Amino acid sequence: MKILITGGLGFIGSHTIVELMQAGYEPIIIDDLSNSEPFMLDNIQKITGQKPKCYLYDACDKDRVRNVFAENTDIKAVIHFAAKKAVGESMKQPLAYYRTNLVSLLTVLDLMQEFKVGNIVFASSATVYGEPEKLPVTEEMPLQKSLSSYGSTKQMAEDILEKTTANHWLKAILLRFFNPVGAHHTALLGELPNGVPNNLMPYVTQTASGIRKELTINGNDYSTPDGTCVRDYIHVVDLAKAHVKAIDRLLKTAETPVCEVFNIGTGAGISVLEMVETFEKVNNIKIPYRVGPRRAGDAESIYASCEKANKILGWKAELSLADMVRDSWNWEKYLKDRKE
Ligand code: UDP
Repeated sequence: MKILITGGLGFIGSHTIVELMQAGYEPIIIDDLSNSEPFMLDNIQKITGQKPKCYLYDACDKDRVRNVFAENTDIKAVIHFAAKKAVGESMKQPLAYYRTNLVSLLTVLDLMQEFKVGNIVFASSATVYGEPEKLPVTEEMPLQKSLSSYGSTKQMAEDILEKTTANHWLKAILLRFFNPVGAHHTALLGELPNGVPNNLMPYVTQTASGIRKELTINGNDYSTPDGTCVRDYIHVVDLAKAHVKAIDRLLKTAETPVCEVFNIGTGAGISVLEMVETFEKVNNIKIPYRVGPRRAGDAESIYASCEKANKILGWKAELSLADMVRDSWNWEKYLKDRKE
């Protein structure tokens, strides 16, 4: 069964391609390489033994994306990842975020309607919850006003999908990712941050490999057990597997609701300090760090209830925090070896 994946060479996209292929699906990739590199496609082939079809197109380019649908007439579903994803950058370039994230979704939906493709899995985010009033967060909790332009593009996209599915030509599963980290256990796939990383894990791995001098911990005066922010980190391979479950549900289960939302995390709240200390212990390497001021827009604590995904999708995170920090570090070392 053919599945079209926009943003299929990105961090989460590339791992999802591998899991889909290993589950017997035939993925077709659209990616403009704005946050990836061509070797990711070669590495997918090294892992799976096959090179998936890949179009190096911008998902907002309707004429080119139309050609992909026209050339591959029996696409059964779309997984839509293609989007800009840096929270901080989204505050500096809000229009670029609204344009890319919304136009790519609308382009894909228009063409799905035109070509009668009735199933979509959408890459949403825990940022839609803003600063939650209760923990762990459940899917039913009302969404707070978003703290960033990035977050509001995800809220708007969820709204667009919910309203569109109400017309009954489309079924959607919205996966709200918590904090994806880790890398493929082969160290052939992982995150490729653009420039100085904004996110914690790539900053930690780049500090470990000497690219960055020291990590700055963004505040240690929060009302959390050790004063640093708490997040729900999830291994990217577990997250990729959730997409296979979502596709299975859309294509193989009769009579499901037209629009469903699932949290995809581990359910464990981990502080920044705990993450750094686990990285140091598992990899036997010191991370020089200092404590800096709080970062604007940060929620203090957020972690998921994943009961719904567990019960309905039959999905549960299996990999541990130790797996996450080990695989992230192996990937960073692989990147270093590639350059040398
Ligand atoms: N963080 C940090 N130093 C960094 C990068 C991130 O202390 O160099 C903190 C950040 O303030 C937050 C947590 O790590 O509390 C996770 O941040 P990240 O950007 O990875 O994910 P977010 O939860 O913001 O999507």
